[in-house]
Amino acid sequence: SPGSAAPSQLPDAHPPFDVYTVRKDFPILREQVNGHPLVWFDNAATTQKPRSVIERIAHFYEHENSNIHRAAHELAARSTDAYEQARAIVARFIGASSTEEIIFVRGATEGINLIAQTWGRKNIHAGDEIIISHLEHHANIVPWQLLAAETGAQLKVIPVDDTGELMLGEYTRLLSDRTKLVSVAHVSNALGTITPVREIVAEAQRAGAVTIVDGAQSVPHTSIDVRSIGADFFVFSGHKLFGPTGIGVVYGKSEILQDVPPWQGGGNMISDVTLERSLFQPPPGRFEAGTGNIADAVGLGTAIEYVERIGMDAIARYEHELLEYATPRVAAVRGVRLVGTAADKASVLSFVMAGCEPIDIGKALNEKGIAVRAGHHCAQPILRRLGLEATVRPSFAFYNTFDEIDRMVAILEQIAVRSP
Ligand code: PLP
Repeated sequence: SPGSAAPSQLPDAHPPFDVYTVRKDFPILREQVNGHPLVWFDNAATTQKPRSVIERIAHFYEHENSNIHRAAHELAARSTDAYEQARAIVARFIGASSTEEIIFVRGATEGINLIAQTWGRKNIHAGDEIIISHLEHHANIVPWQLLAAETGAQLKVIPVDDTGELMLGEYTRLLSDRTKLVSVAHVSNALGTITPVREIVAEAQRAGAVTIVDGAQSVPHTSIDVRSIGADFFVFSGHKLFGPTGIGVVYGKSEILQDVPPWQGGGNMISDVTLERSLFQPPPGRFEAGTGNIADAVGLGTAIEYVERIGMDAIARYEHELLEYATPRVAAVRGVRLVGTAADKASVLSFVMAGCEPIDIGKALNEKGIAVRAGHHCAQPILRRLGLEATVRPSFAFYNTFDEIDRMVAILEQIAVRSP
């Protein structure tokens, strides 16, 4: 009818996302697995790398490889420039005030441990309270348990409702003058819940607490402005952002980092050493002891430039369409229960199927070339909160297609027919 045709005649504010052109940038997407074209739905675990990142790392080793900072020769200058350029790209990408706020680490896990072992050891004492949420990845639980055991501090947990959303009223009640730190995930890796980090950070600040946002799962899906989030620290991993493994970032506000003691000691992080004492570099050098992951930092810079060219807003919109397409179709498969149905979600689906173990569903999908995670996703507390030990978790990136979702749903339907 003319009425139903009308919307499509309106000028479209956003051109359709050209996924088939984008896919050509990712060599691995041409892989065959068990005789089928690979479908990579394990993006929350790690993402695939565009050719520009792979070639940038090869270029580094072919033309620039040297240790940084220490030598007077040409290649040291090239590698130092490339490494510091990557730091500048990261700073701009997340809206940091300066490159001094960007510390390179191995990943989000090392980043949180660094904060716990430096800022935490200095500032957390017996009787203090650390607040995390029930949604956290183990990387944002275990370092705080270790610190609490060491210092006599207490860990408090923001509860989660049955849809997988944080219970903010309970959070407010947990805050007190004993709260020294609030550390929460921006996006849950197990359920996809997007948490209201601005609100959480603002409330923590009113209580005088320092804040950390674990951005491991948000950075790949949405544009980040650390100053508008307002947290004191923000961490993420390069490999979940189409960059290399073994490189990640701690952003720390300048005024906080100035007073944070070093973690590991060694080369690079000092300004002067005698046998009696050492003087340390200012941030970020103070936190980068030894030879770091130079080539992979450079690769991360290239990954960021790649997603910036596509546009984080276009990525977020397209991934949301994938999620909206997949959610009702997966939910309609007989016996499927979706786990985590928060109103605001990133492109992660978590589900279980009656009569079929998650691991068996993962294996059946793998037989047809489809990679999903099946297990506890390093987030056992939230799965147990929902009465589960494991789920199947397809997670989408901007190189995934509606057609791939159809392929997965068709296989799930076959599994459901065979299940008791
Ligand atoms: N935080 C969240 C929310 C994650 O999803 C992950 C990884 O899955 C991590 C932290 C740890 O990241 P990495 O293993 O790269 O250190």
